[in-house]
Amino acid sequence: MELNSFDKRLRWAMEAQGMKQADLIRLASEMGVKLGKSQVSQYVSGKTAPRKEVLFTLASILSVEPSWLQDGAGDPFAPGVISMAAAAAVQAEGRGSKFGSSSRSKFGSAENEPIVPPVHCATITSTPASPVAPTVPFPEQERDPLAAPLPPITKSTKLDNVLYDVRGPVAEEAARMEAAGTQILKLNIGNPAPFGFRTPDEVIYDMRTQLTDCEGYSDSKGLFSARKAIMQYAQIKGIPHVTIEDVYTGNGVSELINISLSALLDNGDEVLVPSPDYPLWTACVNLAGGTAVHYICDEQAEWNPDLDDIRSKITPRTKAIVVINPNNPTGALYSREVLEGIVEIARQHGLIVFSDEIYDRLVMDGFEHISTASLAPDLFCVTFSGLSKSHMVAGYRIGWMILSGPKWRAKDYILGLNMLCNMRMCSNVPAQSIVQTALGGHQSVNGYIAPGGRVYEQRDFVYEALNAIPGVTAVKPKAGFYIFPKLDVKRFNITDDEQFALDLLHDQKVLISHGGAFNWKQPDHFRVVFLPRVEVLEETMDKLAQFLATYRQ
Ligand code: PLP
Repeated sequence: MELNSFDKRLRWAMEAQGMKQADLIRLASEMGVKLGKSQVSQYVSGKTAPRKEVLFTLASILSVEPSWLQDGAGDPFAPGVISMAAAAAVQAEGRGSKFGSSSRSKFGSAENEPIVPPVHCATITSTPASPVAPTVPFPEQERDPLAAPLPPITKSTKLDNVLYDVRGPVAEEAARMEAAGTQILKLNIGNPAPFGFRTPDEVIYDMRTQLTDCEGYSDSKGLFSARKAIMQYAQIKGIPHVTIEDVYTGNGVSELINISLSALLDNGDEVLVPSPDYPLWTACVNLAGGTAVHYICDEQAEWNPDLDDIRSKITPRTKAIVVINPNNPTGALYSREVLEGIVEIARQHGLIVFSDEIYDRLVMDGFEHISTASLAPDLFCVTFSGLSKSHMVAGYRIGWMILSGPKWRAKDYILGLNMLCNMRMCSNVPAQSIVQTALGGHQSVNGYIAPGGRVYEQRDFVYEALNAIPGVTAVKPKAGFYIFPKLDVKRFNITDDEQFALDLLHDQKVLISHGGAFNWKQPDHFRVVFLPRVEVLEETMDKLAQFLATYRQ
């Protein structure tokens, strides 16, 4: 697009920032500048051009130079101090008119004060840094308004291959709609508490009682009582030779996934990760400089990992394999046979096994969960679990990892793990104080996953409702609270699953996560969280059916 008119430059800058007209109106209002819907729409369509003060506001919001926006002069991304001429013009025109008192203070209220555009979050990823060398002022000096512009503040290139779309653009759009007063039916995040799943009373009582003893840092791996209880849990799960030194607590499993990969990977090291996956695994492999190589989980085989595909993807750089069992997003539970197959591959290639078992206490239909490490006493394994899901305390942030197998082989790696754990001091101590209570005695979660229990009944309802929609099929989850249905992409002409999620959100106010967010490469799946009560699930499934009855992309 040749940017030879104001409206084209405006549309281009909006696209570069991922902003819509509503965003301009909202952000301008936060700056104290009132813009009407039709006013903005006229700018965007080229029917009118804004007055100087509005132009200045738009340029600030879009992080572009006002002179570029106005007449295409210079570099759009030469941010920094607005020229004195522009500032003076704005002050002269804006004073007492469109700018309210709050915005005046943002732009400088005294005659000779430098005018600095408000700082706001920009998401430009492809913009080259300004070629002009910045002049860094001495801290005690006021910045000279005529000094060369400062370069934009950009995110690290380490994040270039990092994606976490479960909370990405579709969820952000839902948040924008909610902020504008629209009610959204949310089936997107596995967070039990907002859906009425309450923490067991005993757990809360015990945390309260111990709170005053939890004021200091603990040992960086965690409290003795917590690690002892986790060690005993490992014994029950058949994980051999675990001592208290092999147990590390974390601020959720999330923190430990990050630590375990950061301590291991050199640039270019490969880790086998399932597709679909819980995307934090792929994100953390890439953040640590490694490469996530995805192996297929096969929907035709109840979403079990395809062992041949795993074998075909091993290279001399493969260091580890990630197993997510029970699985998020598919709800699959792997059989002993499948796990033995994975373990055998790891054995042949000397791979570390990372087994994420956070849903191991949410297994339904009488099936048994088998810890991968229990089948691999001769392999170095790291087993992850926590209380977020089984005890409905996702907000308390408590998880753990357990090292097992030939630890002598991993001596150096363990030094790395210890160093990173020391650097974060310790995990949340009040949350550690409830581990012993939570893992012992009556397990209230068992009531939820038995016939008649909420998780069980919601799973059955959503499974049947999804399969009753023409063009949708889904494998029945055996554990957890996710289902990963398939869309008949030919029928709906779907080529972009994120667009499908956005269209459903806009049309029916239902929020789901598109399959791509779980590193699933075809645009033919989405994830539903079945934590809401059946009445709510009924409403959302009706809306989905209604939407799909006519939807064509
Ligand atoms: N692993 C899996 C498979 C998950 O689904 C989640 C959260 O949804 C986590 C780990 C992170 O859990 P935590 O709350 O312990 O950080």
